[in-house]
Amino acid sequence: MKICYDNVSSDYSYPVSKKDIGEIKKIILPEITDKIRVIRFGCNTKTTQEGRIVKQGRVYDIRINFCLNNNRSLILSDRKKYIKEIKQFGGSPDFKSGFITWKLNDAKRYSFYILFHEIGHIAFCEKYLNGNQGTKNSSAEEQWCNNFSMKLIRELEKNALFNLPDSDK
Ligand SMILES: [Zn+2]
Repeated sequence: MKICYDNVSSDYSYPVSKKDIGEIKKIILPEITDKIRVIRFGCNTKTTQEGRIVKQGRVYDIRINFCLNNNRSLILSDRKKYIKEIKQFGGSPDFKSGFITWKLNDAKRYSFYILFHEIGHIAFCEKYLNGNQGTKNSSAEEQWCNNFSMKLIRELEKNALFNLPDSDK
């Protein structure tokens, strides 16, 4: 499992480090992590998709588009479900400026949420679709992946596997 980051200018940053990501091996079964070839982080300035997976033969590449500029990220959609999720994770969207303001710790949690959701797609695909990724994911699959992700977020928190820089929880 390789972890890499797209180069970004110095005013942008990624909320999760390689070390943070390395911790996921403690809470995810090797039969799933072994299927991940690369996790690549990029900026979300040119996309509306925060996460996606691409199957490469028997393994998967994951792409996460989420970065911060002065503790802010872009609002990618005005879909109610998306905005609700952002707020649930502590982000404060401002529709006038088009930015979401985050505390670092919340941005970190949200990054993991996107990542675990994508890993959920891998788990779902392997478990229920015999590794045959469909072209369009059903809403049942999306819901399954959200639940999968939340369960792992709770595992992370229970085990305090990543340090919480400005935690107020
Ligand atoms: Zn999804």
